[in-house]
Amino acid sequence: MSASPIFTDLDYEREGRQVGFLNLPYSPHSDAWGVIPVPAAVIRNGDGPTVLLMGGNHGDEYEGPIVLGRLIRDLDPRTIRGRLIFVPAINLPAVRAGNRVSPADGKNMNRTFPGDPLGSPTEQISHYVDSVLFPLADVFMDLHSGGSSLDLIPSVMMQRPDDAALRRRTLDAVLAFNAPLTVVMDTMGERRTSSAAALARGLVVIGSELGSAGAVSLEGLEVCERGVRNVLHHLGVLPADPPAERQPTQLMQIAGADSYVFAPADGLFEPFHRLGTWVEKGQPAGQVNFLDDPGRPPLVAHFRRSGYLFCRRAPGRVERGNGVCVLLNPYEEG
Ligand SMILES: [Zn+2]
Repeated sequence: MSASPIFTDLDYEREGRQVGFLNLPYSPHSDAWGVIPVPAAVIRNGDGPTVLLMGGNHGDEYEGPIVLGRLIRDLDPRTIRGRLIFVPAINLPAVRAGNRVSPADGKNMNRTFPGDPLGSPTEQISHYVDSVLFPLADVFMDLHSGGSSLDLIPSVMMQRPDDAALRRRTLDAVLAFNAPLTVVMDTMGERRTSSAAALARGLVVIGSELGSAGAVSLEGLEVCERGVRNVLHHLGVLPADPPAERQPTQLMQIAGADSYVFAPADGLFEPFHRLGTWVEKGQPAGQVNFLDDPGRPPLVAHFRRSGYLFCRRAPGRVERGNGVCVLLNPYEEG
C-alpha cells in the first residue's frame, strides 16, 4: 500500500511539548492547493509508554476534544514519563461542521478503518492513524460522546479482546478510568472502527461515551478529565498518586444484538422509561406516534431482553430502523 500523503513538522521522538498539525493535501473548489490542517500535539519525557489520545472521530462529540485541549495546555512535560500523542479533532472537517460525518466526503470516520492512502479525505486520515500513529502507541484512547442522535449515561467503553492477557490489561485500564459505568461492547460486530483496528494491532484500547445530544455536558467533562488522568496514573505516565477518590463503578456489557431496540415505523418516538431503569424482556420500550394521522393507534416497540436502560435516541423524529434504546447487562467473562 502507498505511504500516507499526510505531512507534519511534529517530531514524535523529540522531548518536551510540541503543538502543530498533520497536514492532508486537499483540493476542493474553494482551495486548489491547500491542506486540511488536523491539530495535534506531542508531549514526551524520557522512556515510558506511548498513549495516543484522540477526539473528534465524530465531529459532534465535544467532551473529549475539550479535555484533550486542556491537557495539551496544562500538563507539565517534566511531570510525565513516556509519550503522549494528542489528536483532539482528528476528523477536522466533521469537527468544524459540528457533524457526525465529514462534509468533505460524507463518511463516518469510525466506519473507514484501516483507511486508504488513495481514498477520500476521511479514509486518508484513518489510514494515517492506523499506519503511522497506532504503531507508535501502546495504549489508544478514543473519546466519544453521544453525538447528535444519542442520550446516554457517561461511561468508559471497551471491546472484548480475544487474547486473555490483553483482555485483562484492557479491563484493568478501563476500571482505572473509573467512570460511573464501565461497558464492554462489540458494536454489533463492526470491524471498521478505530477501536477494532487498534485492537488488531494489539493495543490496549479505551473508549468513552460522555455527553448527549450534541451538547457539552458538565458531568461528562468531569468524568472525562478525571478518567483520562486516572488512566495516565495507572500506566505510570503520570506520578503514582491518583488525584481523586475512587468512585463506585458498575461493570456491564452490551450482551448482543437483542440489546438494541429499533424504531418499528417512521414517526415520532415516545420513550416510556428513564435512563438507568431496569426493564424486562417483552415490556414496551416506547411507541411511534403518527402526528399527521391522530386516529391511527401508535405502534409499540418492545424490549427483546431484560436489562438496564443505558442509551436512548435523542431526537424525537424517527425512521423505521433508527436505534431508539440500548440495554446493558452485568459483564460476564468469556
Ligand atoms: Zn462517536
